[in-house]
Amino acid sequence: MVNQLSKLPGVGRKTAQRLAYHILAMPEEQVRELAVAIFNGKKQVHLCPVCGNYTDVDPCPICSDPNRRHDIICVVKDPRDVNAIQRTHDYDGLYHVLHGVISPMDGVGPDDIRIAELMNRLADGSVKEVVLATNPDVEGEATAAYLSRLIKPMGVKVTRIAHGVPVGGELEYTDEVTLSRAFEGRREI
Ligand SMILES: [Zn+2]
Repeated sequence: MVNQLSKLPGVGRKTAQRLAYHILAMPEEQVRELAVAIFNGKKQVHLCPVCGNYTDVDPCPICSDPNRRHDIICVVKDPRDVNAIQRTHDYDGLYHVLHGVISPMDGVGPDDIRIAELMNRLADGSVKEVVLATNPDVEGEATAAYLSRLIKPMGVKVTRIAHGVPVGGELEYTDEVTLSRAFEGRREI
């Protein structure tokens, strides 16, 4: 149990031992619930066929929400970034999760991330703006520039989140106020 738990991120040997002792002291039914929740979560949660975010229904609750704007798509690297932006309560459009960024150094090209899926979503002309919210690091900027060159000729407004998010920082660890400001300060690119 300790070996398995210590494979989780942020869980060292000592924490794993603490968790293991805690689990041993838990009622059996509660341990079963925990195990089933982990197993079912893994089995049922998959990528939304539209936006690529994690979901257990198709399409995901965000894509199928009639109260959200469906003419604006925010492009992010990772499902965790969707979560971070959702926490700001400032953005009410849709998302597109790339599941990576273009990184020639790591052998990741445009075909290795969900760019073709994004282009498909833009094909019918109903989307008026694409917000590029990849991280402000080298790969994130390169990916944003690549997408801008691809999308702008389609007559879609392309914006990039700008102010607030620290250079080299990650969206996931950016606080709500900063991220909120970054959205307000997005500019056309
Ligand atoms: Zn979705």
